[in-house]
Amino acid sequence: MNQRESLLKLVIQFCQEKGSRTFTLQELYDKFGDFRSIGVGGNTPHATVRRLLQELRDENIVSFRDSKGAYSLRGIDLLENEVETESIELITNTSNPVKKEYLIESFARNQGWVKLAREKLGFLCLYPKCENTFIKPDGTPYIEVHHIIPLYQGGEDGLWNLSVVCAHHHRMAHFAEDQIRLRMEKILLRETQCRI
Ligand SMILES: [Zn+2]
Ligand SMILES: [Zn+2]
Repeated sequence: MNQRESLLKLVIQFCQEKGSRTFTLQELYDKFGDFRSIGVGGNTPHATVRRLLQELRDENIVSFRDSKGAYSLRGIDLLENEVETESIELITNTSNPVKKEYLIESFARNQGWVKLAREKLGFLCLYPKCENTFIKPDGTPYIEVHHIIPLYQGGEDGLWNLSVVCAHHHRMAHFAEDQIRLRMEKILLRETQCRI
């Protein structure tokens, strides 16, 4: 494994523990210190880490979020505990990014972004006038959490990009024809904005 791959492994591990795909350089420094565990030594380990992140960005694996050193882990490969185990096979068997993201979101349970969205946006579909839900055996209403701008298009787990939708409107957001999807994107961004 080269240094870049080792760093990516650390980043994935970090994101798994944090339950979010967004991370900052400072968080990595605080957690991993001098990065000796991945063979980065010398006087300027942080410069090396920045260079490696640059390389990962060139490969579209991470993206820069802002000038304060925030990054997003891109792509939509599974993080641990991101979905119910019985659904993992279904998800890993598709290479279509649109479908994959939809499946991950539909089955996601314990991820940080799922909890965040439910806490802040509630359990009712944000599509105007929709009242489509049902009560699950544990007594809570059924709702799915959706990234309005998809992760594979550079969206992130920030609250501004999250929405809660019923199963029907979730499918619509992913699989309707372009104009409907774009209109929905606008509606959901607005509805989330009103609530945060
Ligand atoms: Zn979705
Ligand atoms: Zn709905």
